[in-house]
Amino acid sequence: MNRPLRSELRASTCPHDCPSTCALEVEVLDGRSIGRVRGAEDNLYTAGVICAKVARYAERIHHPDRLMRPLIRKGPKGSGEFAPISWDDALDLVAEKFLQAEARHGSEAVWPYYYAGTMGLVMRDGINRLRHAKKYSGFHSTICVNPAWTGYIAGTGRLAGPDPREMAKSDCVVIWGTNPVNTQVNVMTHAIRARKERGAKIVAVDVYQNGTMEQADLAVLVRPGTDGALACAVMHCLFRDGFADREFLEKFTDVPRELEEHLRTRSPQWASRITGCPVETIEAFARLVAERKRTYFRLGYGFSRSRNGTVNMHAASCIAAVRGSWTLEGGGAFHNNGAIYHWDKTITEGLDVVDPSIRMLDQSRIGPILCGETDALIKDIPVTALLIQNTNPVSVAPEQEKVKRGFAREDLFVCVHEQFMTETARMADVVLPATMFMEHDDIYQGGGHQYIQLGPKLIDPPGECRSNHEVHCALARRLGATHPGFEMTPREVIDRLLKDSGWGTLAELEAKRWIDCQPDFDTAHYTKGFAWPDGKFRFKPDWKTVPFRSPWLAGPVHEMPALPDHWNVIEEATAEYPFRLATSPARNFLNSSFNETPTSIAREKRPSVMIHPEDAAAHNIADGDKVVLGNARGEVRLHAKIFDGVCRGVLIAESIWPNSAYEDGKGINTLVGADSVAPYGGAAVHDNRVWVKRADS
Ligand code: SF4
Repeated sequence: MNRPLRSELRASTCPHDCPSTCALEVEVLDGRSIGRVRGAEDNLYTAGVICAKVARYAERIHHPDRLMRPLIRKGPKGSGEFAPISWDDALDLVAEKFLQAEARHGSEAVWPYYYAGTMGLVMRDGINRLRHAKKYSGFHSTICVNPAWTGYIAGTGRLAGPDPREMAKSDCVVIWGTNPVNTQVNVMTHAIRARKERGAKIVAVDVYQNGTMEQADLAVLVRPGTDGALACAVMHCLFRDGFADREFLEKFTDVPRELEEHLRTRSPQWASRITGCPVETIEAFARLVAERKRTYFRLGYGFSRSRNGTVNMHAASCIAAVRGSWTLEGGGAFHNNGAIYHWDKTITEGLDVVDPSIRMLDQSRIGPILCGETDALIKDIPVTALLIQNTNPVSVAPEQEKVKRGFAREDLFVCVHEQFMTETARMADVVLPATMFMEHDDIYQGGGHQYIQLGPKLIDPPGECRSNHEVHCALARRLGATHPGFEMTPREVIDRLLKDSGWGTLAELEAKRWIDCQPDFDTAHYTKGFAWPDGKFRFKPDWKTVPFRSPWLAGPVHEMPALPDHWNVIEEATAEYPFRLATSPARNFLNSSFNETPTSIAREKRPSVMIHPEDAAAHNIADGDKVVLGNARGEVRLHAKIFDGVCRGVLIAESIWPNSAYEDGKGINTLVGADSVAPYGGAAVHDNRVWVKRADS
């Protein structure tokens, strides 16, 4: 590329759905284009490192397939036949359809549906202001965090833990159920620093031999959904071998003796039968934690995306309490820092106009909801209008067959505000072109770190793209929705959000670039007690009252185990469905983002499924063969990749490819169930039993 003579480096923040929330430096070439993107060196968490897919962001933001103009459907639903329309006409039509839906069935017939295509607090969450002001159906966000957050909070009482930068000060970093070589790369930065500078060991726990497992000193390979058993066996060894910190246990935990008694039968042999992990590996893991009390458990999301995921997360978090690792810098268990930001989101989300009588609809159950299933709808009111931003349910939501059937309904009006013609946009009646993060102002919080960061507008948007905030305000005017937030610019909303939340002003944030919100050591390590009235970590949580935002209890809550355990509610393999399938994230995609960029597509090649060589041989499958996976929810055709880095009986399909990348147009989420994870919902995307056969057999 010929670079203009004048370019400048500008600060930004990665908006994608990744806990790293990297601080970026963007080379702005002129008012409309960017060059290189790199990590900010002086941000202590990002430390100059970002993932390759964002480093080549110019490929995405200047992609020739970006949506540039509003479009109106001209052909049958899903045909892809659209015609240009002016913004005013498009917004008038959307407003007219929403008002019609409201007049016919009441306001709850309209469902604003969004998610984490951007994590900016203005652009992602502002849709809730419109929803509250108009009393539209609520969006219960379940697909990502609910099992993980609930499981972690069940122990500590609060979604916060040791400073993530402390990983570099550990003697042992346990990376559990997350693959930071693919996503949130900074975990590796800090873990490897600990290894270089302190001789720390890195343990990785996962369901296949991925990039992170390859870099670990000890790779602990388990079957999907069996992490609770592994955690119990490690704790069994700590008690058995005299490495349980009894002083810490007595002072800071609820039922240590009951736990010890309970764990007597949870031996490595017991866990090995469940997890598929050799006894020696479990013993080696326990020995590392025993010998290196300063162990930092970095607990990811992956292992919670199972019907027993909440219990698994809680069980893993319990190990640090048994060992007493919390008392040391570089020790403890961390999952997410959501609780440290104490946001007042009145302006961003319109929390002052919430009507609690309005129903909440489960994001993960959009298929059953659009198909009119009574339990999913909650009230006898159909959803007849959707406004969709930052998400692509016709690729990513569970039970794809129902999702597609729902979107094909002739009585459903759909407006999608998007950056590309995604599979969801293709099903829309009106498509609106959306800005990307460098084309609007927004503010971000780190999930995997402790910074508030700004993402200012750096370049003008292409074509007629408009930001989410502009769409919220323009629709509000047409729909008669009033709220001060609709009268403010994004910068004014950011300034007000910061002031209302006690974090200063926008001008101060701009001057500092980021705010380090890390609580002090005593708070982060709970040295004066965990966040429960009695200050005691809960080995025995009351699952029905874990303090996590949720409008209802979901799944088989009453069967949840009282103490850490292997909870066998997973879709266990059977004679009919002899394999367990996990749908792990591909390195070059992020959910369905980036699956439109040429380099990502070229590197990922094609949809495939990893299968153990012996399983492949038993099914007469050779490397590269086209195979069919199937279960009661449908069938998917893709190519086999013979790989000995999975347990026997386990299949791994890295994704998310669009449905259209598969023969028959049926993607991997065809096989994933939309039933709720206990106790507060979630999608069990790594918990599927399937059969496999050669496509021509
Ligand atoms: S690692 Fe995550 S937060 Fe960092 S640049 Fe990549 S996607 Fe963005």
